[in-house]
Amino acid sequence: MKVTENLKTIQQAINEACERANRKAQEIKIIAVTKYVSNERAEEAINAGIVHLGENRDDGLLEKWNFLKDKPVWHFIGTLQTRKVKNIIDKVDYIHSLDRLSLAEEIDKRANKQINCFVQVNVSGEESKQGIQLHEVRDFITQLEKYPNILVCGLMTMAPFTEEESILRSCFQKLKGLQTEIQQLRMDHAPCNELSMGMSNDFAIAIEEGATMIRIGTALVGNDE
Ligand SMILES: *Cc1c(COP(=O)(O)O)cnc(C)c1O
Repeated sequence: MKVTENLKTIQQAINEACERANRKAQEIKIIAVTKYVSNERAEEAINAGIVHLGENRDDGLLEKWNFLKDKPVWHFIGTLQTRKVKNIIDKVDYIHSLDRLSLAEEIDKRANKQINCFVQVNVSGEESKQGIQLHEVRDFITQLEKYPNILVCGLMTMAPFTEEESILRSCFQKLKGLQTEIQQLRMDHAPCNELSMGMSNDFAIAIEEGATMIRIGTALVGNDE
């Protein structure tokens, strides 16, 4: 399928989810996750009007970054090893996977400007999942104040692998609740206005529960590897 056709379908689903939730579709940004696809397919996404691209590995990001002439807004969405920060730091606009102080320290040290960071939260508490436990997030974000190059723009989560709507919904609701709690602290370094949640299979539910950035790979650009 052409990216333009997939995008039309997704946009329609976004509109419907927004209608159900009484939200405006312009509040939702689509991040095209290009980790499974070729440089050319990423370019096709940009030509289709996609502004935000996401990659989860440093080498994948660098390859597409070098290839694409029209520079998108770049999001790093995967586990980030501390020693790889220097490879990507001047190429990305957002990092979605801040989950430890050692990583914050390295980002702060290597960055030449303030970086928009999402704190990744392991809402479900599954062992296999990356991210900070819900009850630790507030303290963690408070401690990030000492890093001037880190701006906590929001919270990110990956929902559990399930089709069960009630489980997905409850996961997204918990992240939204935590966002509200953090916003009420009114910390200059943590406006926390964004919620990065929702992927190909669950973005409509995520939007109903307050997502502002959805990360879509398979349903938008495919996964041909
Ligand atoms: C791969 C990936 C996605 C996109 O997944 P799809 O199910 O293909 O839409 C979103 N977020 C993260 C963190 C990913 O690694």
